[in-house]
Amino acid sequence: MRYGALEAGGTKMVLAVADENRKILARESIPTRTPGETMPRMIAFFRKHPVDALGIGSFGPLDLHPGSPSFGCITETPKLPWRHYPLLPAFREALGIPCALDTDVNAAALCEARLGAARGAQNCVYVTVGTGIGAGVVCEGKLVHGLMHPEWGHMLLCPRGDDPMPQGICPYHGACLEGLASGPAMEKRWGAPAKELPPDHPAWELEAHYLAQMCVTAVMTVSPEKIVLGGGVMGQKQLFPLIRRETMRLLGGYIACLENADGLIVPPACYPDSGLIGALLLAERAAK
Ligand code: ADP
Ligand code: ZN
Repeated sequence: MRYGALEAGGTKMVLAVADENRKILARESIPTRTPGETMPRMIAFFRKHPVDALGIGSFGPLDLHPGSPSFGCITETPKLPWRHYPLLPAFREALGIPCALDTDVNAAALCEARLGAARGAQNCVYVTVGTGIGAGVVCEGKLVHGLMHPEWGHMLLCPRGDDPMPQGICPYHGACLEGLASGPAMEKRWGAPAKELPPDHPAWELEAHYLAQMCVTAVMTVSPEKIVLGGGVMGQKQLFPLIRRETMRLLGGYIACLENADGLIVPPACYPDSGLIGALLLAERAAK
């Protein structure tokens, strides 16, 4: 058996083919343009490297309700050419094989829960902090869907009194997690790309505070054994100790079983391929 994986992102599509041991046999990255331009290139890749099943982890939001007429479609994305695009049906029709779709972050969460930093956890979340913020959630060993799928990037936070940009930048909510703590939010607040802010810049302490608010909500809702933090902004390793300390402070001693957050808040083990490997796991499941 050969399995195909697609990690569909706003800037690039990463495609891979793997064998049953998850050894990657072929891999390609294609810039994300319009569906008319990008879909034929992706389909050509899977025709050149035939697979028995395909798993897709995609940017969203997505319609993942099996009974819905728009099941498998991208929904209200700001990436206009992809709005309402029937991503899953298009691959099913073109390739005629079992195909499965989930959010990019749910795929990454699945990967980290099965094979990575959250291995053995019943409940875990994977949060990417980059151009946007998104989270995949595993509860009792299963990916969470329900009403839609988790959208933690738009979790409402309390802006801090000393934040020079407390109004945030989310076009829907202003001061949600993504509006306050994404890479673009940091750039707008501090007037320089996050990557260029030195490690001792006050930006990081404020960033850690907002990510800690999210971690507290994670602990209080999902009761995760692991909170896996990935994405470009988390390339700043000094954030981890800051977030752990701030999370413990905000928890206020309420979670008695937690002495510290060292084992709770962790980097991904499979980054930057967590989403791609998660898509492979979706393909394996689709083939069964
Ligand atoms: P995307 O979210 O677009 O898939 P990334 O996860 O790489 O891609 O996130 C890009 C965002 O992360 C940008 O806002 C960029 O400024 C920021 N970023 C990327 N690398 C770093 C870094 N090493 N330190 C801080 N911020 C970074
Ligand atoms: Zn928002």
